Amino acid sequence: MNILNTHLTDGNLCKICNSPFADNYLVKEMMFGFRDQFTYNQCSACNCLQIDKFPDNIDKYYPAYYYSFNADTAPLKRQPFFKRLIANIRIKKLLNDNRPVLRYLKPIKPKFSDRILEIGCGKGKQICDLFNLGFENIEGVDKFIPKEIDHGFGVKILKKDIKDLTPNSYDLIIMNHVLEHMPQQQDVLRGCLKLLRDNGCLMIAIPIIAEAFNIYKENWVQLDAPRHFFLHTVKSMKILAEQTGFEIRSKLFDSLSFQFTASELYKRDIELFPESNERCAYPFEKYFSKEEIENYQKQAIKLNSEENGDTAVFYLYKSNL
Ligand SMILES: [Zn+2]
Repeated sequence: MNILNTHLTDGNLCKICNSPFADNYLVKEMMFGFRDQFTYNQCSACNCLQIDKFPDNIDKYYPAYYYSFNADTAPLKRQPFFKRLIANIRIKKLLNDNRPVLRYLKPIKPKFSDRILEIGCGKGKQICDLFNLGFENIEGVDKFIPKEIDHGFGVKILKKDIKDLTPNSYDLIIMNHVLEHMPQQQDVLRGCLKLLRDNGCLMIAIPIIAEAFNIYKENWVQLDAPRHFFLHTVKSMKILAEQTGFEIRSKLFDSLSFQFTASELYKRDIELFPESNERCAYPFEKYFSKEEIENYQKQAIKLNSEENGDTAVFYLYKSNL
């Protein structure tokens, strides 16, 4: 093999903006405590962090008790007729509710009749919750579930690739902490662009490189090696959106005390979910006082207000309209 050609492969450049890397970090798997190490490279231009090699044994790092597959779904209950009649009044009230899922929907001004798709939804916990609030035209897709799930009332979780869904048919596509797990970032966003109706919104919640990364570096919990392949900055998200036919119209920072509590544990070489903790309950009360946790939460709120929290929601719309 020609060494020069090998050196010039894309593998040495940022998969978002094609610039050379500036730094690299050796990151341990700490959620379950395997402690296997993975190299992450950071781009010199857009600052996106990305795993050096996609692991070929990734299944090992999603044990059966992993939370997204254990999330129980609520049974579906259709809103009664009179409530559906006053849908316009109800939705305004609902969107002022501070529950996360509703807070995230507020900037979109959705209607109950909107056709909604959630990508990478597992068993569909959030889909069932949204249905029970009144969003009845909703479905999910997850190619990693064992088989298709029918929750009733036409609400299905399809076991499909997004390429196999009907183009131009959704008003809202939700990707809730899934983009960072996907190797082909541009392909996914281009796929979403095809699926969306013209004025539709693609809502992407992801971890973001911000203050928590500056503090904790390789112990930052959201690196989540090797499950997270890409850790974006606001800049790299903007580049990715523009490359794939989108513009970001707004964003919302929603980080929590978790960025401090969990990263502190990783720094002390303590895993979050050893096998003995098969319900995947966060162990923070064991390690932090109530006051410490409250302080971390206050810091998170402050960072969010400065657009420097470590998780954010981006609202993408087609840019050619
Ligand atoms: Zn880059």
